[in-house]
Amino acid sequence: MNQEFKGVWTVAEINDGKIETVSYELLSWGRDLATKLNVELSSVVISNKVENLDSLIQYGADNVYYVEDKKLEHFYPDVHTNILKKMVEDFKPEIILASATTRGRTLMPALAAKLNTGLTADCTDFEIEEKTRSLIQIRPAIGGNVMAKIKTITKPQMATVRPKSKLPLAKDENRKGKITKIEYDEELFRSKYTWIEFKKDESSVQPLQQADVIVAGGKGLKKPENFKYLQNLSKKLKGAVGATRAVVDMGWIDYSHQVGLSGKTVSPKLYIAIGISGAVQHLAGISSSKYIIAINKDPEAPIFKISDLGIVCDALDILPLLEKEIKSG
Ligand code: FAD
Repeated sequence: MNQEFKGVWTVAEINDGKIETVSYELLSWGRDLATKLNVELSSVVISNKVENLDSLIQYGADNVYYVEDKKLEHFYPDVHTNILKKMVEDFKPEIILASATTRGRTLMPALAAKLNTGLTADCTDFEIEEKTRSLIQIRPAIGGNVMAKIKTITKPQMATVRPKSKLPLAKDENRKGKITKIEYDEELFRSKYTWIEFKKDESSVQPLQQADVIVAGGKGLKKPENFKYLQNLSKKLKGAVGATRAVVDMGWIDYSHQVGLSGKTVSPKLYIAIGISGAVQHLAGISSSKYIIAINKDPEAPIFKISDLGIVCDALDILPLLEKEIKSG
């Protein structure tokens, strides 16, 4: 066992200087594990500007290590990976957690490969194996039908964590911790990529994986124009629009909206599936939704087997009614 590795790290997600809620959710997991292992919990911030670092302490961290440099204005996977790798080599944490967001899913596999260690993606729970002090990483597998328990035997043990799988701890404004700026050579900030542009997704109020409500559509919507109903509905419900791979493949909507095995995994409070058959690959991405409403004209559609409420009807009859009746929240 690599005894020199010690402490739990969470990788904070920062957008335009602001700390995203998923960073506080991660700290909630991190606090749990650090307490069981009797080690410190540290949050790592890599950004061009940082605000409110104290809040990471208030939500459970003992330390904040931050790298702040104007060259980090955009997310360059190679630069962020190299900085994090250097930090891990310098501080040697035994566990590293990041959110299973697009950024976390890009950063963590590259980091694990560079550190020559294992990574479990998309975890929803964790345990500590008492005898070995190892992290047991738990995640849904086989379309959400079983929970796999995975133990990586190399250190650091790394995992991405499904957003919304745990609530942040209550904020404690009296909590004390240490905030440390880490400085590295210019060399580490050089990317082989050139930034072209950033296009904001205007179709949803919330990023898909952070939305409490998702209105998702499949082939039963018949044509791409009908996604406008879903967009309007999701805006009224302050949520996001999801889609099946079938409609993404047909070019009806962008891949960033795809939910499922080869798309995003979501955990909203409410998932409304409209004209979606419920293929196992789609269900794999929605199994941890709290409440599922399905609208499908086929009463035998598999989606009804996992729905809390099923409505058998033509989606194109009900969507204009829903749009009219549902008022903005
Ligand atoms: P369909 O299966 O064609 O279902 C359309 C549904 O609409 C039917 O149930 C029908 O009854 C209903 N319908 C039709 N007309 C109406 C109407 N007027 N009103 C109401 N209902 C209506 N899929 C994903 O979604 N996400 C993934 O990440 C994903 N990854 C995959 C990975 C692999 C390796 C493979 C092999 C497949 C993957 N798929 C994925 C594809 C998946 O198997 C299905 O093909 C896809 O989910 C089906 O999409 P759908 O429900 O829109 O279409």
